[in-house]
Parts: sequence; C-alpha cells; structure tokens
Amino acid sequence: MKSSEIRSLFLDYFVNNGHELVKSSPLIPKDDPSLLFTNAGMVQFKKVFLGEEQRPYSRATTCQKCMRAGGKHSDLENVGFTARHHTFFEMLGNFSFGDYFKREAIFFAWKLLTEHFKLPKEKLWVSVYREDDEAAHIWEKEIGIPTERIVRLGEKDNFWQMGDTGPCGPCSEIIIDQGQDFGCGRADCSVGCDCDRFLELWNLVFMQYNKDEDGTLTPLPKPSIDTGMGLERITAVLQGKKTNFDTDLFEPIISKICSVLNVNYGKERKTDISIKVIADHIRASTFLIAEGLIPSNEGRGYVLRRIIRRALRHIKLLEYDGVTFYRFVEPVSETLGAVYPEIVSERKRIEKVIKIEEERFIKTLERAQQIFDEAVNNIKKSGSNVFPGEEIFRLYDTFGLPIDLIREMVRDSELELDEIGFHRELNKQRERARAALKAQEVGMDEVYRELELAPEKFRFTGYTDYEVQTTIY
Ligand code: ATP
Ligand code: MG
Ligand code: MG
Ligand code: MG
Repeated sequence: MKSSEIRSLFLDYFVNNGHELVKSSPLIPKDDPSLLFTNAGMVQFKKVFLGEEQRPYSRATTCQKCMRAGGKHSDLENVGFTARHHTFFEMLGNFSFGDYFKREAIFFAWKLLTEHFKLPKEKLWVSVYREDDEAAHIWEKEIGIPTERIVRLGEKDNFWQMGDTGPCGPCSEIIIDQGQDFGCGRADCSVGCDCDRFLELWNLVFMQYNKDEDGTLTPLPKPSIDTGMGLERITAVLQGKKTNFDTDLFEPIISKICSVLNVNYGKERKTDISIKVIADHIRASTFLIAEGLIPSNEGRGYVLRRIIRRALRHIKLLEYDGVTFYRFVEPVSETLGAVYPEIVSERKRIEKVIKIEEERFIKTLERAQQIFDEAVNNIKKSGSNVFPGEEIFRLYDTFGLPIDLIREMVRDSELELDEIGFHRELNKQRERARAALKAQEVGMDEVYRELELAPEKFRFTGYTDYEVQTTIY
C-alpha cells in the first residue's frame, strides 16, 4: 500500500465513522506562545478540549503536520539514529470532544489496524497507564489481548501532555513487536525499550485534565479523546521496511541525495545516518519556510537555523563541498505537494532562503571543523581521550555552532566530552546572558523558554554573518 493510500484509508475510515475531516493546522501555532511548534494533532483543538471554544462537530479526524525539534518532545537528536524518529512528520489522528471515550477509541483503533490494515494480532502489544484498570480491562476482556501483552507503564510513557501546561491525561499505546532483527538484543528488551523492536504505532490519549502552571490537574469539562499515529511508522510497517526512511515517503528524497552527493544508501551505517539526517531536515526546513519562517538567532527561527546547520554538517561529512542542500526541496515538494500545496507554490522562495543560509554557514563550518580537528589531534597526541569542557565551549562560543552539532563532532572524533566542564562553562554563559537581559530590560518571550538552552541566542550576536567573522579571524 502506498503512503498516500494509507493516509486516505485512515481518514476515510474515521469520516465513515462520523468524524469531520479537518485540515492540518500550521506548524507554527497561531496565538499560542506556550508552544514552539505544533507537536501533535491535538494542538489545534486545545481550546475545544478546554471547553473554551465550540465546534459544529464533536468528532474530528486529521492528518497533522508536526514538528518535534526544540521544546517538549524534541526528537532532533534521535534523527538518523533510530528507525522511527523525525523532526517533521505527519500525525494521523481521531478526536472526540466529549463524545465517545475509552471503549470506542480502543475499538476504533483496533479494528482499523487489524481489519483494514490487517496487522497480525499476535504481534500487537498494548501499554496502559499504571493506574488505568479500566483501559486494561477493555483490552483484555473486550478486545481479547492476552494479559502478558498488556504492559502497565508510568508517567513518562503513558501520561500524555502537550507541554508543561494544557490538556493532558493517561494514555494507552499500541505497539508492534517487529522481532529480534529490529532490536537491541538485550535480554530485558520489551515494550518501553528505546530500541526499535517494540515499535510504538499509535497513542490513544484519554484527555481528562487541564494542567496549570503550578502543576495542578483540573478535570476537563468533558472527558475527550485525542489519538496520534505517525504516518511514517505505519507506512514502514505496512510496506515491510526496516525504517521509516525506507518507505515511499522518503525514497525520492534519498535517491536525489544519493545522486547529488554521489553516495550509496544502505551500505554503511555512518553514511546512512548522514543521509537520513539530511532527508529529515530538508522536509522540516521546507515545511517551516513554506509557512514564512526564516533562519534567525532567536526562537523558532533559531531552531530552523539549527536544523539547516545540522544538515549542512552531514553533507560535509559525506565529503561534498558546495551549496547543495536547497536542491533537495524539489523531491520533498514532489512527494508531499499533492497533500500540502504550500510547498509547491512556495518552492522557489524556500530554495532561495535555504541557499542563502547555506552560503553563509559553509564558510563558518569549514573554519570550525579545521580548528576542531587540530584540537583533536593535539589531544590524541598528548595521550588523552577526553575533550576538555573549556576548550569545546570556546569553539562553540566562537563559531555559534549548535550544541547538538558540537556533541556529534566530539562523538565522531572518538573522544569523550568532558560534560561537567562543558556544562560549567555553559552555565556561566547562561548567567552572563541573564545579566545582559536584565540590563537591557528585555522580557523573555515564552517561546525561548521552550528552547532547551534558551540563552544560546545571545551567543550569536555579531558572529553569524561571516562578513563579520572574516574581520574577527
Ligand atoms: P516515541 O516513544 O517513539 O518517541 P512518543 O511516545 O514520543 O513516541 P507520542 O507523543 O505518543 O509519541 O505521539 C503519537 C505518535 O506519533 C507516536 O505513537 C508515533 O507513531 C508518532 N511519533 C511520535 N514522535 C514521532 C517522531 N519524532 N517521528 C515520527 N513519528 C512520531
Ligand atoms: Mg518521543
Ligand atoms: Mg512513547
Ligand atoms: Mg507515545
């Protein structure tokens, strides 16, 4: 089954079951400073769950553009290393606003997976929130899943919340055991393990509370349902592929990357990681820029800059020199343009924005890598295998490289990063940034708080334009 058919089958199934087909909302949430990017299907319905907004329907279904980079649920650093994580992905979902609740949500999901998508029942597992006897009972007694494939987990896995505040509730997830070939091989590998063997397909959230700033849970006006299943994951399973990147959603993008960069996919792990990162990040960049975001030094624009810069570093790792990332917008636009017309109409502009950012960063990165390599050589020569925290911080601070990128550079150099020293320097810098903020009497926007390292934005002032840098070096 093609991914386009899977998307349609899901939506049609819920429409046939009385759900309103609602368009994806933008990745950049409107009027919600508590959230960096739309990270789930429920985001556009937040006020409906809270009872602050009425809709002419009480059931809805969507295929929602999601971004999990920065902020809660960030998967930026997982991309390329797991089979299942992206920054940009599509989340299929069904929603009930005070209409049906647990039982119907469970039945809808089970029937779709086993009768329409025909997944083998014996490979499916479910998880429920530790205290949720009701859900466990429905799975066992009404659906007929053997007790040993029903796992009770705690808050981390089975209590879903959009952000630090907002609608939330216990959840129940449907997982497929893909077999040992997909796993970490550890004896205790089971549901909840970080590896890809027990692949989480679908999360059914029983929306029951609103969490406020001091952590208090208040019951919602009406218990509701919010579910989410990653289109890329269900597609990988139905197409019998080992990772999401091997599906038809990525194939044209990866082909183009391979032909332009002159590399092979599926031969060597390290190369594959870079290809996956590039393929993931071009989708994210394309969709964010289509919505009008441009790379910058603060807030959302800074996340976009980090994403582009990470991709550029991986292009360089594949030994390609030159401006080329923008060329991968084309296969993204061809793969998903029929569903998201904005990436077709905005294509030229998207390419231009990426190209400018590339030209600017390539110069910075070359210099940073050179100095980094020299440092690595010196450290190795001295017989040490630890990259000192102060030194890595200096590099990071001078070049304005994203922190995850620095970490990867250290990881690739086969040295250990002196985390304690690095954090000490980072904290000192944070203090300086905080003091600078106070001095300027600038209010800290909520959005920056969402960034893992909010004050990073100050580091860049005056360093990001390479015109400025050439005067520094
Ligand atoms: P995981 O444990 O694998 O990180 P999650 O529990 O964080 O997933 P949820 O927040 O429950 O994910 O999101 C609902 C569904 O969206 C998941 O069951 C999965 O199918 C999909 N999904 C979540 N994160 C990603 C991602 N980064 N890339 C692709 N699909 C994702
Ligand atoms: Mg996750
Ligand atoms: Mg999970
Ligand atoms: Mg989950």
